[in-house]
Amino acid sequence: MNEFLASDIQFLKGVGSTRAEVLQKELGIFCFNDLLNYFPFRYVDRSKFFKISEIDSDSSYIQLKGKVKHIEEVGATKKKRLVAIFSDGNQEVELVWFKGINWIKRSIKINEEIIIFGKPNHYKGSINFSHPELDTVENRLKSAPLEAVYHTTEMMKNRRIETKIIRQISQNIVNHERFAIPEIFTDKFCEKYKLIPRHKAFKYIHQPPSQRHIEAAQYRFKFEELFFLQFPFIRKKINRKEVHHGITFINQENLYTQFINEYLIFDLTNAQKRVLTEISSDLYSGKQMNRLLQGDVGSGKTIVAFLTVLRAIDNNYQASLMAPTEILAIQHYIGLKELADKINIRIGLLTGSTTKKERIELHEKLQTGEIKLLIGTHALIEDAVLFKKLGLVIIDEQHRFGVAQRAKLQSKGIQNPHVLVMTATPIPRTLAMSMYGDLDYSVIDEMPAGRKQIKTAHRFGFARQKVHDFVREQVIKGRQVYIVYPLIEESEKLNYRDLNNGYDELLLTFPRPKYQVEMLHGKMKPSDKEAKMRDFAEGKINILVSTTVIEVGINVPNATIMIIESAEKFGLSQLHQLRGRVGRGSEQSYCILLSSKKLSSNAKTRLQAMVQTSSGFELSEIDMQLRGFGDIAGTRQSGLDQLKLASLNTDSGIADEARNAIVEILSEDPQLIDHQSLYLYMKDKQGYTDWENIA
Ligand code: ADP
Ligand code: MG
Repeated sequence: MNEFLASDIQFLKGVGSTRAEVLQKELGIFCFNDLLNYFPFRYVDRSKFFKISEIDSDSSYIQLKGKVKHIEEVGATKKKRLVAIFSDGNQEVELVWFKGINWIKRSIKINEEIIIFGKPNHYKGSINFSHPELDTVENRLKSAPLEAVYHTTEMMKNRRIETKIIRQISQNIVNHERFAIPEIFTDKFCEKYKLIPRHKAFKYIHQPPSQRHIEAAQYRFKFEELFFLQFPFIRKKINRKEVHHGITFINQENLYTQFINEYLIFDLTNAQKRVLTEISSDLYSGKQMNRLLQGDVGSGKTIVAFLTVLRAIDNNYQASLMAPTEILAIQHYIGLKELADKINIRIGLLTGSTTKKERIELHEKLQTGEIKLLIGTHALIEDAVLFKKLGLVIIDEQHRFGVAQRAKLQSKGIQNPHVLVMTATPIPRTLAMSMYGDLDYSVIDEMPAGRKQIKTAHRFGFARQKVHDFVREQVIKGRQVYIVYPLIEESEKLNYRDLNNGYDELLLTFPRPKYQVEMLHGKMKPSDKEAKMRDFAEGKINILVSTTVIEVGINVPNATIMIIESAEKFGLSQLHQLRGRVGRGSEQSYCILLSSKKLSSNAKTRLQAMVQTSSGFELSEIDMQLRGFGDIAGTRQSGLDQLKLASLNTDSGIADEARNAIVEILSEDPQLIDHQSLYLYMKDKQGYTDWENIA
């Protein structure tokens, strides 16, 4: 950064030490450059004047020309306010100030033509403006028609540092004779990607001559944001492929073909076949596989994982499969053991509750190579677990695992084992590419044939009786049911249905021994959990009453009803995951969302969306509109929260452009020798100080 931009903000014309203190405290603005990077959130067109008669209930910020007819202070000392009657020649509105009264009073002259600017409030049939901006007609004529509007805080308003001041001082920077912003991209690059110069972009964003200039400046900054967001991931990916030679599997496929030909009881979907091809080309490439496999709940990721494991075993390597919860690990173990037994393969299970004795035995068999596949939770990444020859690591339900854990698990191989990360989190492609940009990407975008759509309904609590009648009918037909509660115990603070009470009630509605109703939750002993899961999978339990421990991955095809109590408590992706526990077999499945009558509009939208669509991708789009990206797990570490102007929702075209640009630069000039300014900028920029380590 040059000396000018690094100057202390208090030395900027129009700032001084008092304002500087506020800017530091409230906005974290310490130097000229900080202010320059504090962008307006919108612009107003000040060439247009409104008439009071044109104001309607949804008028935003507008500008009026007229005269103050009368002004007076009203109210008791503490609640004193200043009220002025403003007329545009035809009609009148009130202007009100609660702060800075003396100053305002001095600056307003009765019957002199002025311009006011603000947002009209409608109060008891009349219109008023609270703390409008005031301007003389003469001044206004000198100013540009388009004005930047900045966010300010309550404290700033109290100190009269409002948007107008921010605008003025920002312009004092961009109009200063020493203002100069070095370009970071080459001319050729800017031309190719249609970027206006950086210097101009900063000027136009704060002081735009026209709408067209605003757009050009915003485009430039959005492009930059998406460029720097994706750059480290893409560089890492390219580097990894060059530097890290993976294990090469040679095309041996005894177990693989044997299993497909003799034991697979269904045809793979085309999407599954395509993904398997993508995976095997990685495995045979001589480079380490680092692939993200995305597929909606029920799309059949597990069999893809298993077939990939067989490829490893065919090549004399071991594999490990890591799941986010113990229940899921157990379930994978039960399910995959059945498949593995058919072809005489030893597999093991390691979780937090594996006893010391079992553990010692497991370790031994891993080191002799007797166990070919180890399934487990994060216990898998404990140091004591050593494989004889680990060639493949599969991580299920990625969003629960951090990058660090991934790295640790990978480091267990002597060479770099191939890594397959599987997730059902249905995130739009752009987001996936940015969050997991260091991974290659495969998607299963097709459901196995013969699946019936899950029928989803939303009912209020008072219909519970009817819902239970329906459950009874289904249970008599031999189907199984999940009933999920948001809480284990009753809570006074939260008015939600809870598992303990719900379970007691259900025992009365579905009495033993005719019905088998059992409870499952995260606080139970792991061995009890395992037993319950097994009993449910084997059909010994009719109704499983549980918390969201069953949210991820559980697969019991005979279970056809999912009832979610206090469904308004859950987020969309959670509801979708829960619903994904049914509809896994050939029978018609149902998902019933029970909620209280009183719902926030957000909750209503969520429940409606669930009823209307079964597509995880559509739901994730809706979720994103409701919550924004900031809430989505993993966005923080990915730097997504640093996006100021760009949005992955609406700017995915720009994100693609930026990605192409990065690939182009890095493939032509990996050391950035011809892109020195860019190199220096990134080295300088906070967060890129570890440039050498990015690889
Ligand atoms: P998820 O992708 O959510 O992990 P699973 O792998 O658990 O889904 O698969 C869901 C169910 O679909 C399982 O019972 C599985 O055996 C079955 N399945 C997977 N692929 C197919 C297919 N091609 N045809 C029919 N059933 C399939
Ligand atoms: Mg799964």
